[in-house]
Amino acid sequence: MLASEVSSLLDHLGVSSDRRRGARAVRSPLTGETIAHVLDASPRHATETIAQAEAAFRRWREVPPPRRGELVRLLGQELRGAQDALGRLVTIEAGKIVPEGRGEVQEMIDICDFAVGLSRQLYGLTIASERPHHRMMEQWHPLGPTGIITSFNFPVAVWSWNAALALVCGNPVIWKPSEKTPLTALAVQALFERAAARAGDVPDGLSTVLIGGRDVGETLVSDPRVPLVSATGSTAMGREVGTQLARRFGRSILELGGNNGSIVCPSANLDLALRAIAFAAIGTAGQRCTTLRRLFVHDSIHDAFMAKLKRVYASVRIGDPIASDDVLVGPLIDATAFETMQRALDEARAHGAQVHGGERVDERQFPDAYYVRPTLVEMPAQTGPVLHETFAPILYVMKYTDLDAAIEQHNAVAHGLSSSIFSTDMREVERFLSATGSDCGIVNANIGPSGAEIGGAFGGEKETGGGREAGSDAWKAYMRRVTSTVNYGGDLPLAQGVRFDI
Ligand code: NAD
Repeated sequence: MLASEVSSLLDHLGVSSDRRRGARAVRSPLTGETIAHVLDASPRHATETIAQAEAAFRRWREVPPPRRGELVRLLGQELRGAQDALGRLVTIEAGKIVPEGRGEVQEMIDICDFAVGLSRQLYGLTIASERPHHRMMEQWHPLGPTGIITSFNFPVAVWSWNAALALVCGNPVIWKPSEKTPLTALAVQALFERAAARAGDVPDGLSTVLIGGRDVGETLVSDPRVPLVSATGSTAMGREVGTQLARRFGRSILELGGNNGSIVCPSANLDLALRAIAFAAIGTAGQRCTTLRRLFVHDSIHDAFMAKLKRVYASVRIGDPIASDDVLVGPLIDATAFETMQRALDEARAHGAQVHGGERVDERQFPDAYYVRPTLVEMPAQTGPVLHETFAPILYVMKYTDLDAAIEQHNAVAHGLSSSIFSTDMREVERFLSATGSDCGIVNANIGPSGAEIGGAFGGEKETGGGREAGSDAWKAYMRRVTSTVNYGGDLPLAQGVRFDI
């Protein structure tokens, strides 16, 4: 039944029928059924695509940035027109609830708007020269074809964070989407092609999609014609990609896992904290890189707050998000995700945890889909599975008495993506945001760790990979920085007063 809806959506979004046949079966996590087939890129096709991107680069880098921005403006327009259809496809292919599927497309629209403005603001500095009649300046030039490898859980937005910026910076983009979500990628590519046809004079191969598994990703990573690869996914993937890129001196933007924490202080507005924590820990069925996974609650409010949290966890509506509007928790992506979750819960029990929830829901109705009750886990200490990212709705809760010790615990994990504190005491808030506070790339106060806006640079430290995408000056990673010195005098004074008289 979903297959016919998917077929209509793909028709509507302009995905041609020759891209919709092949050996790779695409399944929907909503029901587990096969919804389409697609063709994997052969190694030869991947290599040819890179050659085409290289040729496109030679033309695109000469197009003035605001003209490049015009293409991205048109892409944003296509996305606006397709928001409902593409958002629905995200829901069916990735399992997000309907507002989140639509919200993901909104994020694409937002970054297109940002990139259009940016296309007139690729600023370099002028720098004071120590030599008379000299001028120094910094220029930013296009870098070259940009590989974009993406994960299943943000099947379209992550591409747009990279692509909108890369395109205005003068780079072609080659996208290797998750093998679990190729249909949304093909739909976005079709929308891009519509925008390109409207813009006119866009080189072939400016934006392409290579469907396939990690082998296709590896082709992008190993090819020296791709100077930058932005890879989003697990830390295990990033460790391989980052190492391989470093070996050939390729650049990387790594957006990897997170094991995000929040601290709830005695002065916190507890109703606000409850809503924020519920969204951050339960939303997207715990399958966001920024999902809240570790919660430190002050001893003095712990029991009262836990009672409220347990009520929310017991009552939150789980199920097929297209069957009912009030569903807040959709399915896990697949059976492997469910098994990994159960293993983490067993491990937590072995470490003395009290586990509330975690069982499968609607199993009879959907034997091939994996709906689970979000799980609260009361941990005696930060040990075992708490130290790792499990990509599922598990929230480990621990008590604290001293804020310094809580911050130390908060930072004592391998990842460093997102974090937050709930407090109305400005000393506590500022301490958490300071250099001696959270060690993450994203540090919030009185909101949860998930749900970032595109205006800020997004990314994290340590095993999260260190990359930054989206807003602020993240665009600089997509460009080649040039320092130029111009002598407009008749003499040749050397820097540092060096004399070299011939
Ligand atoms: P994954 O690592 O299994 O796959 C991600 C992508 O990498 C896929 O396209 C896959 O085919 C490709 N890939 C895997 N190994 C590769 C290799 N050796 N060379 C080249 N490509 C390779 O991740 P997933 O299960 O799709 O996504 C979940 C993970 O992604 C979680 O850990 C989550 O925290 C992380 N994530 C991070 C961010 C972020 O911005 N930091 C955003 C979303 C998801």
